[in-house]
Amino acid sequence: MIDKSEAYILKKYDLTESSYLVHFFTRELGALKLVAKGAKRSKSNFRGNLEILNLLEIEFSKKEQNDLGVLRRAELIESSYDLFSNYQTAKYLFTISEILSKGAKENLKEEALFRLIGAVIESYKDGIDGEWLFNYFLLWFLKLNGVFPSPFVCGKCRRKSKIVVFDIDEGGFLCAKCKTEDAINVDDKMIEVIKEILEYHPGEFKDKNKREFPKGLKSMLYFNTCHFLGSDVFTILKG
Ligand SMILES: [Zn+2]
Repeated sequence: MIDKSEAYILKKYDLTESSYLVHFFTRELGALKLVAKGAKRSKSNFRGNLEILNLLEIEFSKKEQNDLGVLRRAELIESSYDLFSNYQTAKYLFTISEILSKGAKENLKEEALFRLIGAVIESYKDGIDGEWLFNYFLLWFLKLNGVFPSPFVCGKCRRKSKIVVFDIDEGGFLCAKCKTEDAINVDDKMIEVIKEILEYHPGEFKDKNKREFPKGLKSMLYFNTCHFLGSDVFTILKG
């Protein structure tokens, strides 16, 4: 049986002398690993298309749900190749593809996550600040996975009191009454930026990103992402 989907390339690995194993995030089936036979040959139809975060229309065949499928056709819809010529942008995009290849589930349609990737890549192309966009992606990635709690109610007492700290093990954002030791301090600036990210399309951060992204929020997002994925995916950004 042959299936079809739009898909972003997350990673590709050497499989044999002539073939790659390609990790996709598809609109229809979520994460999907396919063998691209002969893709390294100079005359391959896939050549040039199998680059990270390119958006493709793919056709693939798979015998059983859990079998490794075979990529039959890959047509380029939108290339992200040029973005990787900027070293800092490339580091953010490699991290995004790393997070998705670790965190996206197989055989699960995640339409909102698919649209998030598209919106973030488009905004990188439009020249929106890289750090803002990257953190925008993290916050929404966590929220879509149900691990970014509401910043508008206390995670412990459920009251709509002013939030003062964040503690992942104690329910998320906490009020002054419920606050714990060693939690991350939360100030008004952070809450304001969270609200904006939840409300606006990333393309709308053109004027807003003249501000510095709040450091505390950045640490919170990095910590939560590592906690969720069970590994440190930010090593490339530190280099
Ligand atoms: Zn409380």
